[in-house]
Order: sequence, then C-alpha cells, then structure tokens
Amino acid sequence: MDLIKQNRDCPVLYVVVPCYNEEEVLPETAKRMRAKLRGLIAEKKISPRSRIMFVNDGSRDRTWEMIETLAHADPLFAGVKLSRNRGHQNAVLAGLMTARGKCDCAISIDADLQDDINAIDGMVADFCAGSDIVYGVRSSRDTDTFFKRFTAEGYYHVMQRMGVELVFNHADYRLMSARALEALSSYREVNLFLRGIVPQIGYKTSTVTYARTERFAGESKYPLKKMLALAWDGITSFSLRPVSMLIGLGLLITGGSLIAGLVLLIIQLVTGSLTGTAAILFSIWLACGLILCGLGLTGEYIGKIYEEVKDRPRYFIEAVSLDPGIEKEDVSKAVPPSDEISESTQPEEQ
Ligand code: UDP
Ligand code: MG
Repeated sequence: MDLIKQNRDCPVLYVVVPCYNEEEVLPETAKRMRAKLRGLIAEKKISPRSRIMFVNDGSRDRTWEMIETLAHADPLFAGVKLSRNRGHQNAVLAGLMTARGKCDCAISIDADLQDDINAIDGMVADFCAGSDIVYGVRSSRDTDTFFKRFTAEGYYHVMQRMGVELVFNHADYRLMSARALEALSSYREVNLFLRGIVPQIGYKTSTVTYARTERFAGESKYPLKKMLALAWDGITSFSLRPVSMLIGLGLLITGGSLIAGLVLLIIQLVTGSLTGTAAILFSIWLACGLILCGLGLTGEYIGKIYEEVKDRPRYFIEAVSLDPGIEKEDVSKAVPPSDEISESTQPEEQ
C-alpha cells in the first residue's frame, strides 16, 4: 500500500452527517454548520474546498428534498442518498467512504445538534498538530436520563471486561485523517460497529471533550431495540470471551461434579448407604459440565473461523525509513532489506 499524503496545513475537511427523517432539525443544523465552516474557512484553518456532506439514510420524510435544495443553493453542501434505510453505522460509513480520497480529514457528527459543533475547531487543530484520529468525548451526561446514563456507562464497563478496546464516553463524533479513512475502508465486515473498529486502526490519536446537549428537535431515531442491537453487535463482533466463559463454566461444573462424585464414593465406601438420587444427580451434573466444555471448545474453533471470515487487515504501515539514495517514487516498489526498516514499521507476526 502506498503511503498516503495528507495536507495538515489548511486541510480539506468533509463533515459527514447521517440523516434519517431529520426534516425538523435539518434547516437549523445546516445553518449552524455552514456558519461554523465558513468561519473556519475565513480563518484559513480549513480549505475552501471543504464540504458538509449529508447522508440521507432512506428517510421517509422530506429530508432528501431539503438536502438537494441545500446542495443546489450552496456548494458548501453535498448530499449522498442511500437506496434505503441501512442504519446509522452504515450511513456514517457510506459518507466517510464517499469523502475518502476527496479530503484530508473527515468528521462524522449526528444531525440533531446534540454534539457541540464548536468541538470541530479543536479536532481540526489536533489534526493539524499531527493526530490521525480525534475522538469527541462527552464531558458530562447531565442531559441524559438516569436510565440512558446507567445503561451506557454499564455497557462500557462490560465491553472492557470482554477485552474490547473502546473510548469511554465517545460515540461516533470523531475526526479521521485521509489515511485513517483508507485504513477503515479495508475493514469489510457487515456487522458494523465503528466505535470498536476505529481504535484498532492505530496512528496518533487524541481526544476533544465537549458537553452533549439535548436533541434540538424531533425524536430519537435510536429506540431501545436498535440500541440493544448495536450493543450486542459490539460484543459479538469484537470479543470471543463469551465462548471462553462457556469453557470456563463447563470446567467448573465438571470439576465440581467430580469432587461431588468423590465425596459420594467415600460415603458409599464408609457407610454403604448411597442413594440412587445422589448418583443420578451426579451423572447429570457431570454430563452437563462435559457438554458445556464441548460446546465451548467447538465455539473456540467457530470463533477462529469467524475471525478469518471477517478478513480484517492485520497491520497498517505508518512510516518506512529507507536508504535516502532510493528515489521517492520507488518507495512503494522498493523492498528494503528487513534490517533497514525501523522496528515500528515491521508487520506484527500473526
Ligand atoms: N440515523 C440514521 N439512520 C438510522 C437512525 C439514525 O442515519 O437508521 C441518524 C440520525 O438521523 C442522527 C444519528 O443517526 O443523525 C443519531 O440518531 P439519534 O440522534 O436519533 O440517536 P440518539 O442520539 O437518540 O442515540
Ligand atoms: Mg441524537
């Protein structure tokens, strides 16, 4: 893979905004985002070729008509229309992949103005200072209901226990550089959980904190059912620990029943009064334990197949240190002796 060059001085920024039935907030969102980007362009912090890209995720209301009107009226706006509703994660990915190749960096942000657009300044500043991924992190959850806060924070802890790397209190408000977008494009999985994928990419990362407010207008498009589905996707796409837990439980039950069996045997030998019920119970527990172990073991292999099928990229090269005598253009073709590649650029042995 060629090393991607990205302009960190006055970069082209694409702001990707997924929209599903957002006609109520869209005019205000467009107005505020236009003011924000125009300001940044005037300050020469971003290029005049920057865009606000709305992704219509199969809305049933007038969202797409509004996006088209905006795009026709002002070149700052662009629109992408998905053929049908594919869900928030796919809409964000579609926008980012459309922006890929056209920009130096892209920011994904919800349409409902819950995420503070003033954090864009900090994200761009971090990008210019060398970060490839800048996570928008909520400083407070004061505006959330107790239920939402409790479930969201509990979820992060469960994910951590499961060994999944997540950024605490970060949703999908983030900046990604051109090369981070390129890296993201090599994840081909359909059970999309961007929050889990992005930390796997690597490169230099940083965070920008902001206070999350309430939805400006309209209703949440993320009912509990969709939230649970996303959470479940997160666990099952990134962790094989539930399967290992199955083996652990199986071993525990098998071990327990063997000890119980030993105790029963001693009772039988000493008193000769072992009841049939005890023997049957012992057999049932032992069989259950062994079956669980077998299921867990099979699961481990299925897990391995699952990982292979996902065909995730194994590494990304950040820099190559070469003999200065080699022409720059030849970098992608040159195969340097392994001792000339700095350690950090060596692909990890898998
Ligand atoms: N969204 C989407 N497709 C969907 C559901 C939601 O593109 O199927 C968008 C929605 O328009 C919004 C963002 O995803 O820009 C987040 O949705 P929402 O604000 O309703 O979620 P919440 O903040 O309540 O979790
Ligand atoms: Mg929202």
